[in-house]
Amino acid sequence: MRGIELLHPKMRAKAEELQALCKSQDLPLLITETWRTMTEQDALYAQGRTTPGNIVTKCKGSDYQSPHQWGVAFDFCKNIKGQEWSDTAFFKQIGALGKSIGLFWGGDFKSFVDMPHLELPEFLPANSTATLKKQHGTPEKFKAAWDGGGASTTAAATPGNRTTVKLGSSGADVKILQSALTAAGYPLSADGSFGPKTDDAVKKFQTAQKLTIDGIVGPKTWAALEQYINPGPLAAKTPEEVTVDNAIADGAVTDREHWLGVLRGTAVPNKEYIKVVLDRYHDKLAGKK
Ligand SMILES: [Zn+2]
Repeated sequence: MRGIELLHPKMRAKAEELQALCKSQDLPLLITETWRTMTEQDALYAQGRTTPGNIVTKCKGSDYQSPHQWGVAFDFCKNIKGQEWSDTAFFKQIGALGKSIGLFWGGDFKSFVDMPHLELPEFLPANSTATLKKQHGTPEKFKAAWDGGGASTTAAATPGNRTTVKLGSSGADVKILQSALTAAGYPLSADGSFGPKTDDAVKKFQTAQKLTIDGIVGPKTWAALEQYINPGPLAAKTPEEVTVDNAIADGAVTDREHWLGVLRGTAVPNKEYIKVVLDRYHDKLAGKK
C-alpha cells in the first residue's frame, strides 16, 4: 500500500516533510510503499526460501518483523519513467534528506542494504520491531491505538480488507473514502463522518462505475476507489503502473491490465505475483540478482 495516511501519524508527518523538501528542490520523489500486510510480507519472505528467486528480506510477515507492517517505514523511488530504481545518486540524496529530518535510511543497513527504504527510529530500537511487538502485540492493535481506538478504525486498511462503511459510519476508513471520492471528482470534506453528502457521492460514484447503487462501500466499491486513494502530487504514473511496467520490461509478466489488477487487489495473487512484488522491492537496486 502506498497511501501515507496509512502510516503512523509521526511517520506520516515525516513523509509529508520529505515530500515538501523534495518538491522545493525539484527532486522527483515517489513514495511507493507504506503499510504492508502480513500476506504481502510472507510472500516476500518465501522468495528464495520456499519459492524460486533470491532472498530479498529477512523479515517474516507472520512474526511482524518488518517495520512496514507497523506503519513506521516507507519506500520510495525516482518518479521518472525508466529511472525508477537505477539512479543510485538519487537514492543517496533522498537518504541524506531523510536522515536530516530524523529518519533512518536503509542504505545504512549493515547486512541488508536497502536504499529505497526509510524508517522511524523512535519505534525501532536497533532497527528491530521487537519493542513494538512487546508493547502492542500486533500491528492491528498498534494501529487502533494511534487511530484513537474504536471498532470503526481497527481494520487494517488494505484493498479487499477495508472496513465496509455506510451512512452513519465514522473513522479513518471514512476519511480515506472521502478523500478518494474527492479525487474521483465528487468533492467532500474529509471529516471522517459518513453523512448524507457522503452517501450521495458514493451513490453517484457507484452509478458511474456501474456498481450496485446502495450507498454501501464494501469490497467492490473499495476496489473501484483504490486508484483514487492518495495518488500523490508528483505521481506521473501510479506505483502499480511503475511496478508492472518494470516487470514487463524485465520480461517477468506480459498482461499489463491483469497485473495492475493484481497489485490493486482486484485479482487473486499467484506465483507470478511474487515476481512482480520482487521487482517492486527493488532487488535490482540492491544488487541481489
Ligand atoms: Zn522498505
